[in-house]
Amino acid sequence: MKKIFSSDSFKKFIYIYCTIFVVLLSTILLFISNTLIAFSTPNELKGKTILIDPGHGGIDGGTSSGNLLEKNINLEASMILKSKLISHGAKVIMTRDKDISLENLCNDNDYRHRRDLKSRVNMINNNKIDIYLSIHVNAVANAPYVNGPMVFYSNANESNKTLALYIQKSLNAATGINRNPNIADYFLLTNAKKTGVLVELGFITNNSDKNLLQSREYLSKLSDGIIDGLEKYFKNE
Ligand SMILES: [Zn+2]
Repeated sequence: MKKIFSSDSFKKFIYIYCTIFVVLLSTILLFISNTLIAFSTPNELKGKTILIDPGHGGIDGGTSSGNLLEKNINLEASMILKSKLISHGAKVIMTRDKDISLENLCNDNDYRHRRDLKSRVNMINNNKIDIYLSIHVNAVANAPYVNGPMVFYSNANESNKTLALYIQKSLNAATGINRNPNIADYFLLTNAKKTGVLVELGFITNNSDKNLLQSREYLSKLSDGIIDGLEKYFKNE
C-alpha cells in the first residue's frame, strides 16, 4: 500500500502543528491576562506629573560621612524613583539629573545656596505638576542610634500633611520604623506653592542606614514605599 506520509514525516507534521498551536494559545492567554491585569489594577499615578528634586549637587555635597556624599545618594535614589514612576504611567520632571548645583538658574542678588534653593522652588512653582518630592539624606550629631526615613512638610496647606502621612506610613511599613511625619519651615517647603514633601531617606550618621543607603536594593525599596504613599494619596484625594 502506498503511504501518503512516512511515519517520520507524519510525526514531524504533528510536532510542528502542536508547537504552533501551543505558541498561539499561550500568546492569546498572555494577552488576555495582561488586559485583565491592566483593567483590574487601579493606576492612580497614570497621567500625574511628579517633580523630583534630588537635594544638593555640584559643589554642594550636602551632609557626608567619610567620602560618602549626600548629593550622590539623593541623585541615585531619585533616578530609581523616576524610572519606577514612569513605569507606573506618571510623567516626571527633575530639578537635576546629574551632579550639578542650580544657583546659575536664578539671577537674584542673593547668596549661592539661597539661589540654588530658589531655582528649585521656581521649577516647582512654574511647572504644571501634581506633586513635588525633594529627596535628601539626614544627619544628627551625637545620636548614632537614630535611623530610618523621615518625611517633612509645610503646614501651609492640608494636602501637604495628608501626603506626608501617607508617604511616612508607607516608608514605615517598608523599613520597620514607627514614626510620624514632621512639620518643617525649610525654605523650599515654605516657598513651594504646590503640594509636596521633603523625604529624608535615612541617617548618614547611623551605621546601618549608611550601609543601606549605598545599596540599590534598599533605595529601590524606599522608592516603592514613596510610590505606595503617592498612590494612596491620589486614591483618597
Ligand atoms: Zn540635604
